[in-house]
Amino acid sequence: MSALKLFLNEQVQVFWQNAWDAACKIGNNPELGYEEFFAVETLSQLLKEHGFEIECPVAGMDTAFVARFKGYRPGPRIALLAEYDALPEIGHGCGHNLIGVASVGAAIALSKSLSLPGEVWVIGSPAEETSGGKVTLVEEGIFQDIDVAMMFHPGSQNVAEISSLALDALEFVFLGKAAHAVAAPLYGVNALDALIDFFQRVKVLQRELNDGYINGIITEGGISPNVIPERAVARFYLRARQRKVLERLRKKVLRCAQDAAKAINGKVTWSKFEHSYDEMRTNTALAQAFVKNLRELGVKYISPPQSALGSVDMGNVSQVVPAIHPYLSLGNGVYIPHTRNFAKACLSSSGRELLLLAMQALAYTGWDVLNDEDLLERIKGEHKSKS
Ligand SMILES: [Zn+2]
Repeated sequence: MSALKLFLNEQVQVFWQNAWDAACKIGNNPELGYEEFFAVETLSQLLKEHGFEIECPVAGMDTAFVARFKGYRPGPRIALLAEYDALPEIGHGCGHNLIGVASVGAAIALSKSLSLPGEVWVIGSPAEETSGGKVTLVEEGIFQDIDVAMMFHPGSQNVAEISSLALDALEFVFLGKAAHAVAAPLYGVNALDALIDFFQRVKVLQRELNDGYINGIITEGGISPNVIPERAVARFYLRARQRKVLERLRKKVLRCAQDAAKAINGKVTWSKFEHSYDEMRTNTALAQAFVKNLRELGVKYISPPQSALGSVDMGNVSQVVPAIHPYLSLGNGVYIPHTRNFAKACLSSSGRELLLLAMQALAYTGWDVLNDEDLLERIKGEHKSKS
């Protein structure tokens, strides 16, 4: 291990207890998306104490922030992403209390090197679980001058190369005409009939698909059985491995909705009820650098590349800047994300150990990107070639 990595390791070790305290405080005070004021205050306080300049709010979000630390010579600019939102009822069942602190800890360790080149940013991104704060951060150009972005996520195994699904969240509103259901049914136009017809058509479409997932629920289906429903509403998540496949799928689903509306002489409108997520495009060169560091840190089991069946807002970041979203195993990997047990484990010695490993691996990889010109060139070349 190079002298500088030994130095970074020392810094991480020194900060470990403070980092753990912060992870526990945030873990014991779970906050929902866009309400993470306590978490943002806790993280920015730490960064401020270590000389980072804080900008908050950013991109029109009260719980988004950017913390900057300038190095002592020219070089690239890296971003470590912090997440800190929790789940309703379950609290930090996705371990975001560890994610935020790990990125902060790695950034602080890097800032201690007097030969630090470039710039280290921590970008605080709210509401990962709900509407994806990173989507707004990307749209608002926060990543415009960033060379590389990274974070870690607690999971059930160690895996650096992942993909995730592109996702569209669509709401369909079918409109008909109300009338007495028995006395004057012919005067009515039944929006619920169209909605049910739409579900049937979508089911046929789903059977024909070899790439893509369609999942819908009815959120409004009329007000009284005595009245022909004039309005019926459904919400759908459409997912596919790639945005371009999803675009085609969306067109087909919209056609199903239009045909169903036409069949009753009614109308249908649609809109997005949450941000759209793009698929995660892991930068292989960057992921390999991360894996090399994990091995140096004594991690033996690293899983081959994996395609996840979920969606992450880091996907949108990975479309505009080379990025990784590795998972590191919490404990021995038996915990299932989005459960109370997972939240509990994040606050146990397993969480404490994982936090240390995440800070080390992120700090080392950050150092590699900032100092190894060949590596950065490979990372950027790969990103460009896949754009
Ligand atoms: Zn998560």
